[in-house]
Amino acid sequence: MTTLTKTEDTPAPTESGAFLSVRDLRVQFSTEDGIVKAVDGLSFDLERGQTLGIVGESGSGKSVTNLSILGLHNPKSTTIEGSIRLDGQELTDASGRQLERLRGNKMAMIFQDALTALSPYYTIGRQISEPYMKHTGASRKEARARAIEMLGKVGIPDPKARVDDYPHQFSGGMRQRAMIAMSLVCNPELLIADEPTTALDVTVQAQILDLLKDLQQEFGSAIILITHDLGVVANTADDLLVMYAGRAVERGSVREVLKQPQHPYTWGLLGSMPRLSSDVNEPLMPIPGSPPSLLNPPAGCAFNPRCAHVELVDGGRCANERPLLPAGRGAACHLSAEQRQQVFIEKIQPRLG
Ligand code: ADP
Ligand code: MG
Repeated sequence: MTTLTKTEDTPAPTESGAFLSVRDLRVQFSTEDGIVKAVDGLSFDLERGQTLGIVGESGSGKSVTNLSILGLHNPKSTTIEGSIRLDGQELTDASGRQLERLRGNKMAMIFQDALTALSPYYTIGRQISEPYMKHTGASRKEARARAIEMLGKVGIPDPKARVDDYPHQFSGGMRQRAMIAMSLVCNPELLIADEPTTALDVTVQAQILDLLKDLQQEFGSAIILITHDLGVVANTADDLLVMYAGRAVERGSVREVLKQPQHPYTWGLLGSMPRLSSDVNEPLMPIPGSPPSLLNPPAGCAFNPRCAHVELVDGGRCANERPLLPAGRGAACHLSAEQRQQVFIEKIQPRLG
């Protein structure tokens, strides 16, 4: 076990009563090279029926956060601190058995690649009905009927005939749908979708996202949608959390964050990402530099070595003092609201169009 030094820069954990409440989450891995601070003081809430988008470059801690919620990290090499409450139940100290019961029943995950989630050796129908039998005690016959029903819901044509197919008999898009059917078969109240459409072409992508929205309306589930594609969240999520180096740097409604982004990292992200609405020939502007090592993240604001605006802040605070993310709408940045407004209007908005 590793002892974590508590830093003063995140607000004290408070009870929120939200359906999912994550407070001051810290996830660290012990590796040969040292301690990787993969998630470093993350807090957010999510209510039933709502979708939270989490965006950030590769390596920013999105998947680690969600694997922590699902309880899927190896306890031997992982230290988890802080609180994860799902419907009032603390998950960070839940037993392996308790977590296993919750997974698939109360919470479920949709993976990026259906092939990692589906076994090639069993029929699609069996892979959907097994967890249903396990969690609900339904008979084999009932579970088969349920699998057919679920395949129909996710838009597999002729589900009665396809239920006995093996994964290799399905196209990539159909396998993704079958995996979604498997994740949703027990009506999970929390659904975590980690880059659910990255491997798919744009048309299938849009269909899968529409499907998630429909299923959310039907079941009232809370959804965490992890993506590096802002076009995807723009059309699907209610709230947005922008992550950088294991920390949340900005949060707000999707509309607010996309229309009036406040954090210099979010500005960079918006300029560097293709958007669904944009012209394919529009030049993208990558953020200069690269994400920091999480073995030894920069002091102060983790983004400061790449930020073009640090000289606007007095006393070298950006390199020394970690900025706080306010509760609700806001950004973890030492620029004043006026400075941000001015930079955004003069330099950023004209580029984003
Ligand atoms: P992403 O935002 O792309 O999903 P991840 O959450 O997967 O990023 O990873 C965050 C950081 O944690 C990365 O630097 C990654 O290399 C590191 N990491 C993830 N899992 C482990 C692990 N099991 N052991 C050590 N480091 C890990
Ligand atoms: Mg990931």
